[in-house]
Amino acid sequence: MSIACECSRGRLHLNSDWAMLEPVDRDYRPVPPGAASHTVLLTNLANRVQPVIRYDLGDSVTLGTEPCSCGSPFPALRVQGRCDDELWLRNANGEWVELLPLALTTVVEDFAGAHQFQVVQVAPDALRVRLEETDRNARESLWLNVARALRSYLDAQGLPGVALHLDAAPLERSASSGKLRRVVASRRASA
Ligand SMILES: [Zn+2]
Repeated sequence: MSIACECSRGRLHLNSDWAMLEPVDRDYRPVPPGAASHTVLLTNLANRVQPVIRYDLGDSVTLGTEPCSCGSPFPALRVQGRCDDELWLRNANGEWVELLPLALTTVVEDFAGAHQFQVVQVAPDALRVRLEETDRNARESLWLNVARALRSYLDAQGLPGVALHLDAAPLERSASSGKLRRVVASRRASA
């Protein structure tokens, strides 16, 4: 289950019966629909052992002011200034499946407990994951958790054949902003 999914009109709908997003300003005050937020807080109680409560995602979002024309009752939202890429992965039938960075990073953070990481697409059906953790034992157990969480997410998206590898390279931050891109698509990775 992802926290948002794209509809036939190309808009993102929040799965609001499962996750809660609060767009807020710089001082964490609520931002009304129609206005761009500074960041957004995610609350998700699906995992009762490790609930996510008002976690700061760092994305600027704008909630729609009117119902979407696709007829979905779930609130539509737009994500701006996102530095993470959408990923297109190829399944066993040769079809392309889109993964939203917000969904992917939430899986790694919520279910694996990793916060500083980079998921890099290296082939149509392969991902490499960089982790910041340097302690060898902690790194190995973190990787097991990340791989398990990503595997079950990819399986659920119909992508059981996508290969996952731990990448020994350090995290790459943007030279200009210092910001960490947590999901990097192959077309940009190779550019
Ligand atoms: Zn819609």
